[in-house]
Amino acid sequence: MSEEEKKETLGSKLFYKTKNVWETTEDHAEIMNFAKPYKTFLDKCKTEREAVAWAAKKLEDAGFKAPGNGDKIFMVNRGKAVIAARLGKKPIKEGFNIVVSHVDAPRLDLKQVPFYEDSGHAMLDTHYYGGIKKYQWANIPLAMHGRIIKADGSKIDLVWGEDENEGSLLIPDILIHLAQKQMEGSAAKALTGEQMNAIAGTIPIPGKEYEKESDKVKLNVLKILNDKYGITEADFVSAEIELVPSENCREIGIDNSCIIGYGHDDRICSYSALQALLDMKEQPERTAIAYLVDKEEIGSEGTTGAITKFLEYFIEKIAGSCDTTEIMQNSFCMSGDVNAGYDVNFKENFETKNASFLGKGVTITKFTGRGGKGGANDASAEFMGAIRKLLSDNNVVFQTAELGAVDIGGGGTVAMYFAARGIDTIDAGPAVLGMHAPKETISKADLFSTYQAYKIFLDKFAGEYVKIAKNTN
Ligand code: MN
Ligand code: MN
Repeated sequence: MSEEEKKETLGSKLFYKTKNVWETTEDHAEIMNFAKPYKTFLDKCKTEREAVAWAAKKLEDAGFKAPGNGDKIFMVNRGKAVIAARLGKKPIKEGFNIVVSHVDAPRLDLKQVPFYEDSGHAMLDTHYYGGIKKYQWANIPLAMHGRIIKADGSKIDLVWGEDENEGSLLIPDILIHLAQKQMEGSAAKALTGEQMNAIAGTIPIPGKEYEKESDKVKLNVLKILNDKYGITEADFVSAEIELVPSENCREIGIDNSCIIGYGHDDRICSYSALQALLDMKEQPERTAIAYLVDKEEIGSEGTTGAITKFLEYFIEKIAGSCDTTEIMQNSFCMSGDVNAGYDVNFKENFETKNASFLGKGVTITKFTGRGGKGGANDASAEFMGAIRKLLSDNNVVFQTAELGAVDIGGGGTVAMYFAARGIDTIDAGPAVLGMHAPKETISKADLFSTYQAYKIFLDKFAGEYVKIAKNTN
């Protein structure tokens, strides 16, 4: 062996190198095929309610029932969160493995009194939900999705602007020719919250009988909605209507490697977690749970967010009189959420050794937060070690990353809320480009790798791996 070769060998032994998923196999069919139904899911589920209804249907079809009916169980929380479990061979007292992800996504909510008419336009007033660059939501077709509770208490599930024959809504942005002042200001103020009003119509209500009416354009729009749904303006007071991008997702790349679409954050993890649970063939050693929560984008608050005690409620259904606190202490969580994909046009926002790259597999994030790790769950070296071994033993390609360069910004996930319960928690999910934009982009390779990671974790994180994670003395 030459000196040159010796050096190479030593380097390959001592250096840390990440892998590209696409290079680990010549047959990409499995990766490409896995992405197909995910695209359908993303197109069909644009709100937390729609995602939860979809998940509940899949679980029912797979034989999951209410707690107390066998070892495949699930519960829905107020139509906006869902938890499902495969009970393990070991007693629940020894803990569970859970993947938690969120099904809410940044969007524009209609205000409770949204309708008005201005200069011949019927308008809808919104209040954005989650952290967004507001200007990105202008000049794109938006659809309305949501639920209305009518005066008599009956409910309507409304979807408008997805079908080609139904007009979408639009928040116009000012043309470049007249944008001198806007272009000189900050991007944060390019479009203000109160400028986020969507055009819903421009035709005054036709017919002699309406001659004496006021606000004829608004009236016409309300009549169209009344004819189809039997609703009035007052019904929006008791409604949750979300404006979301109305176009479906599609492939990106001449090589078809990526998908652009609305709501990858965090429905990609929700889809992967649920699919992992559904695909579990044999009863796992430890109880395996997939939990899809709401309200992550606004701080995980409320009765459907990660903060609520619905997990404890579910565990008590399984465990009976067992001590829930002790069960939590013995449990492990993968917080399934996306990381900031390395953006070659904004290199300075990343530190390349600790960034997540498209195509390099599921990203394991030890801590999130911002500036000095504030607001982070920080997974232990022991749990990191156990996960690293688990993924390596099962040939799951993974990378590790922080959310961007230090002091550039930051963000959190649901991880801290599960860590606070005494559950060892680690973040794991794919890299996303353009996070929180109306259309985000992911790699099909990372989607598949994320699914593999959740599946292995739910299925096989037991025995020696638990020992490594808990060996903290
Ligand atoms: Mn997220
Ligand atoms: Mn987010």
